[in-house]
Amino acid sequence: MSDTATATFETRDPRTGEVTAEIPEHGVEDVQAAVDRARAAYVNWSKLPFGDRLDHVLAVRDLLLDRQDQVVDVICKETGKLEQEAVLAELMATCELIEYYRKHGAKALRPQRVPAGAMLPHKKAWIVYEPMGVVGVISPWNYPLTLAMTATVSAVLAGNSVVLKPSEVTPLVGLEVGKLFADARSDAGEHPDLVQVVTGRGQTGDALVRSGVQKVAFTGSVRTGKLVMQAAAENLTPVVLELGGKDPMIVCDDANLERAASGAVWGAFTNSGQTCIAVERVYVQDSVYDRFVDLVVDKTKALRQGVGAGHDFGSMTFAPQVDIVERHVDDAVAKGARALVGGHRVDQPGLWFEPTVLVDVDHTMDVMREETFGPVLPIMPFKDDADALRLANDSSYGLNSSVWSGDAGRAEELGGQIQAGNVCINDCLVNYAVGSLPFGGVKDSGIGRVHGVDGLRAFSNTKSILASRVALKREPFWYPAPGWFSKLLGRTLRLRYRRGLGKKFKK
Ligand code: NAD
Repeated sequence: MSDTATATFETRDPRTGEVTAEIPEHGVEDVQAAVDRARAAYVNWSKLPFGDRLDHVLAVRDLLLDRQDQVVDVICKETGKLEQEAVLAELMATCELIEYYRKHGAKALRPQRVPAGAMLPHKKAWIVYEPMGVVGVISPWNYPLTLAMTATVSAVLAGNSVVLKPSEVTPLVGLEVGKLFADARSDAGEHPDLVQVVTGRGQTGDALVRSGVQKVAFTGSVRTGKLVMQAAAENLTPVVLELGGKDPMIVCDDANLERAASGAVWGAFTNSGQTCIAVERVYVQDSVYDRFVDLVVDKTKALRQGVGAGHDFGSMTFAPQVDIVERHVDDAVAKGARALVGGHRVDQPGLWFEPTVLVDVDHTMDVMREETFGPVLPIMPFKDDADALRLANDSSYGLNSSVWSGDAGRAEELGGQIQAGNVCINDCLVNYAVGSLPFGGVKDSGIGRVHGVDGLRAFSNTKSILASRVALKREPFWYPAPGWFSKLLGRTLRLRYRRGLGKKFKK
């Protein structure tokens, strides 16, 4: 992106607090210029067959793998996460989604034949999926590569061009994404303007939403998601909103407790708990509650928090988020909760909060109701399955969830009744990595889906087509209508739709 922006903002390494870069703050005109460039790139890109678009995205993936060390380094410097976390949840998740679309993308976007129905037996019907235009992608800081790439790759494969606005906390990762697309070469040629990156804070994002793009794919907080939807309404711009979560984990008395405790600790503390689908609240059946808590406490005490190899998780990423975590823990403790492990900031430069296990929690506490988005694991007992569901569903959120039980039927029954877009049985978080599973939320957790067939079609205009199999001189209901026509129609109607009549006709 050629820069006319004069204002800048700083980014910091959250592990030390040191300033790492000065980044341009793009205004309305810069954003509009980026959208115009993306629109010009769209003209040729949208005409390419899916195979060529895929080939180009595979070239982007190759480049990502060639630049792996550099990209991982930027991710770690901007987020404070560990290398293994970046490789697994950012690079591998991105590569795997592209792999899913390599195998299944063409089929998802191929024209689909559908029945024309008995009213029009002489017709044929089908659906085509057409590119939309320019897609605005707005991404958060917690998985800056994965969450920028998921929407960008899906939109581009569906034939669109993209303007990406990465989080102001992690703009360098966003710029890496832009460079990958700008530098990629394939048999489909060069497409340097296909993915534009604009940097800045909320105002830059707002300018992108209002810029006349054909779709906005937003990942971030519920609060900002509502602002985005309001702004998008002005141009009736459709939105995908991937928002926050307060994901429940239900541990039944017949669960493998050792495994469930390990899963809870990983699910709550990976990426320092800054995962939209982190385990944010655990409900354990009362008869196994004490044993489960003991296991979680032991496993949490054994965690190694720090920088570099030999650690389990790193620092937090965003200073205001550490304040929220501290406020949730303090609120819980003030209302009677006990921190069996942790409970405080770590007294050193950078953004560090101890892995924290809370018990004696209840739903009057913020830590059980609001998204904490930090390394905090509150655990609460439940009596029976109805009680577990009541607690799990007592939330404005509905993103991910997990059920842990030795009885597959019981787990599926509970999972079926949880109000969430996604359920993971005897595991947590990893459902996000399955490219074929549509991912998204219900309730305040969002609108629309990424991944899977839905994730590609989300960036397509559906065009429905009806055509004649045989060329009739005139359709039976065209003018002039014969006098007997309405009687015949009435009889046909009853034979066709009234149950118990005209079985033969219905076959
Ligand atoms: P955020 O809402 O503060 O910011 C997200 C993005 O929106 C940033 O790029 C920001 O600059 C931009 N933005 C801010 N104001 C805007 C406006 N008025 N118009 C347009 N864009 C604007 O979120 P965050 O703190 O970066 O990320 C954390 C949140 O994201 C958490 O709530 C987390 O649960 C959620 N999240 C959801 C998913 C999911 O898939 N559902 C994934 C990751 C994170």
